[in-house]
Amino acid sequence: MIKDQLNRPLHDLRVSVIDVCNFRCKYCMPPKKNGDYKFLPKKERLAVDEFMRLIRIFSTLGVRKIRLTGGEPLLWKPLAELVNEIRGVDSIKDIAITTNGYFLAEHAEALYKAGLNRITVSLDHLNETAAKEITNKDFTVKHALDGIAAAEAAGFKNIKVNCVVQKDVNEDNILELVEHFRGSGHIMRFIEFMDVGNTNDWEKSTVLTGTEIRQMIHQKFPMHAADQNAYGEVAKRYVFDDGQGEVGIITSISQPFCHSCNRGRIASDGKFFTCLFAHKGHDLKAQLRSGKTDDEIYNSLLDIWTKRSDKYSEDRLVQKEHKEQKIEMSQIGG
Ligand code: SAM
Ligand code: SF4
Ligand code: SF4
Repeated sequence: MIKDQLNRPLHDLRVSVIDVCNFRCKYCMPPKKNGDYKFLPKKERLAVDEFMRLIRIFSTLGVRKIRLTGGEPLLWKPLAELVNEIRGVDSIKDIAITTNGYFLAEHAEALYKAGLNRITVSLDHLNETAAKEITNKDFTVKHALDGIAAAEAAGFKNIKVNCVVQKDVNEDNILELVEHFRGSGHIMRFIEFMDVGNTNDWEKSTVLTGTEIRQMIHQKFPMHAADQNAYGEVAKRYVFDDGQGEVGIITSISQPFCHSCNRGRIASDGKFFTCLFAHKGHDLKAQLRSGKTDDEIYNSLLDIWTKRSDKYSEDRLVQKEHKEQKIEMSQIGG
């Protein structure tokens, strides 16, 4: 097992398969005043065989878990094909996707059959009008809930539902979301609004902390802390005292977890990032397309990971300034 400078292994790989998204969430890809985002031309994105070559090499470095994300991964046509190919790699034990859920109903069964293990659906509000204020897209709630129902019918269990909490935007809907998913077998997770990218006007004052979220939920639905399921798990787990399931709270701002961060990330253009807040990626596409052998790519990844010392969120806590432009969340996938 390889370890970085802070003794962290490389266990999870998040693969952003496409930079395009059909939503314009205000915390991720806020609508631009003039024009729209520029997306990669198709030939600049990795193809299934290129992703697979990298995934096989990463698996020999210790990766056991793959999360496919985006942009919006369900906009990428060969998604089920990629899942099916990853399924064939013995050492990969877990394949998950994170999706906004808009197209999930039509793809859930094919993804289940291809061998996908787990799904996370993003849903920030249960009211359509309020949700549209956040996503800039109509009927996102209906699509996400239909998608979750279809995923359940296809055979997926313990579906996770991600809500990014912003003060004065959707904090008033936290209890409704909890109530909606309590007892369903699905796991509601609340994420502190993060300062990812350069465009979402993040301010510390807009973050509702994990402690505030936990106290709010606990007052109505008493719950107690539970152990992590695995090393490096990002969410703190709280189990309802009455046995109606659990919620997760992700405290990247108030209580960062860089000390156990075992995640690497590949963007759809083949750049490898060792931190969500990195300002520079390592160009693996250039290596793939310039005839490098698997051994050469392996050695370059080994070199990158063993030199890694990222701990952006812990540095933020002690207010070290980072002035560089950061990668956008929509390119790297969360
Ligand atoms: N489009 C898919 C989706 O929304 O689920 C996958 C990509 S999205 C970038 C992955 C996750 O990042 C989502 O759950 C989203 O809510 C979260 N996210 C995006 N911007 C964020 C921010 N500024 N703070 C916290 N979470 C964020
Ligand atoms: Fe798209 Fe997901 Fe970003 Fe929203 S959070 S804009 S759905 S990539
Ligand atoms: Fe990992 Fe970087 Fe997030 Fe810290 S800030 S948990 S190192 S991705």
